[in-house]
Amino acid sequence: MKRNVLIIGAGGVAQVVAHKCAQNNGVLGDLHIASRTVSKCEAIIASVHAKAEMKQDGVFEAHALDAMDTSAVAALIGTTGAQIVINVGSPFVNMTVLEACIQTKTAYIDTAIHEDPSKICETPPWYGNYEWKRREACAQAGVTAILGAGFDPGMVNAFARFAIDEFMDEVKSIDIVDINAGSHGKYFSTNFDPEINFREFTGTVYSWQSGHWVENKMFEVGREWDLPVVGKQKAYMSGHDEVHSLAANYPQADIRFWMGFGDHYINVFSVLQNLGLLSEQPVVTAEGLEVVPLKLVKAVLPDPSSLAPNYTGKTCIGALVKGTKDGKDVEVFVYNVADHKDAYNEVGSQGISYTAGVPPVAMAMLIADGTYDHGKMMNVEELAPKPLFTLLDAIGLPTRVKTDDADCAWHEAI
Ligand code: NDP
Repeated sequence: MKRNVLIIGAGGVAQVVAHKCAQNNGVLGDLHIASRTVSKCEAIIASVHAKAEMKQDGVFEAHALDAMDTSAVAALIGTTGAQIVINVGSPFVNMTVLEACIQTKTAYIDTAIHEDPSKICETPPWYGNYEWKRREACAQAGVTAILGAGFDPGMVNAFARFAIDEFMDEVKSIDIVDINAGSHGKYFSTNFDPEINFREFTGTVYSWQSGHWVENKMFEVGREWDLPVVGKQKAYMSGHDEVHSLAANYPQADIRFWMGFGDHYINVFSVLQNLGLLSEQPVVTAEGLEVVPLKLVKAVLPDPSSLAPNYTGKTCIGALVKGTKDGKDVEVFVYNVADHKDAYNEVGSQGISYTAGVPPVAMAMLIADGTYDHGKMMNVEELAPKPLFTLLDAIGLPTRVKTDDADCAWHEAI
């Protein structure tokens, strides 16, 4: 049994993580949240208390922390007594937080692949450049580290594993499809940290096809998808975290990631990129000011968490998995539909933060009760999916399955 959680970061996803941890503090124990800006942590805790979300009386404290400083993270783990860290800070802090967890033998969960601020788009498999280099250290220290435990990456990895295990003898392809059919009413905004969001789309699009890495440009390959609830939507092949781990775990399959974009997003993105405003490399103005264009764009765009009150519509995110069973072709779409308004009413966040923030709390609960406490580093597709689906049915993100014959809850499909 592990108890006491330290949440790192105080952004949109952390808001959801905090509320969900509070709703389950009977299992998770004392709660702590730490970020650079302690007032953001305090505001999140205040929102938890305003909704009376603590399942039972208990600790929920805010802390100031520079998570780039391993010894500061390790010291905070020590003073809080946290046995599980949920890292939902910027992906720039992954490796320092992971290192602190290894040093203190604390379980670690994150929701995005590590990024080096000075590099956009790394050689695949991206995890091999960072997190996987610490696999051995985790195993030696007996540290459970669950990587990419949000929705995508995260739940979609579990969806792929489930479809393969339950419906196939052989897997041929895994297409992750992410459609946000919601509307936030702003001229332009990203749904999570603009810096991270743009960095995903300014590099090479890597997919794993016919046993090797294939390179494309962003918006070069697009197709229409017809998905449950959100209907027909155009999505483009993009680079994404889960392609890098699924390709290592299912090298025999083609692995692609597709993200839905409207024409307006593509226009604005293209103008910003062509002007050089999405560059991570600093420029110097005539006045001698050094500015990173991407950080300037982030500063002028809406804060993604400010979108929540007016966000309407739904998301549909899933894994379309194709393979064979008893010599016959089979095709299974495992997915979730989430509603922006419902997310706001429950935890004060929009649907993208909600879908990213609920799964890591479920993983923390499964580490707490021992189910996922394997004492080593794992990506989500390496974990048994059914305990996760069962818990998420109960805490807010039900999994569904669409086959030729049915469209139903996951447990009715098997
Ligand atoms: P935000 O930008 O809203 O929040 C990031 C937080 O990290 C901020 O509170 C920020 O600090 C904090 N932070 C950054 N640097 C440091 C540091 N050195 N020390 C301490 N705190 C720091 O991001 P989101 O909440 O939207 O996203 C959080 C994570 O979730 C990201 O890694 C993102 O990629 C991931 N994500 C994953 C998804 C999935 O489905 N897998 C989907 C969406 C997001 P402060 O504000 O205190 O200054």
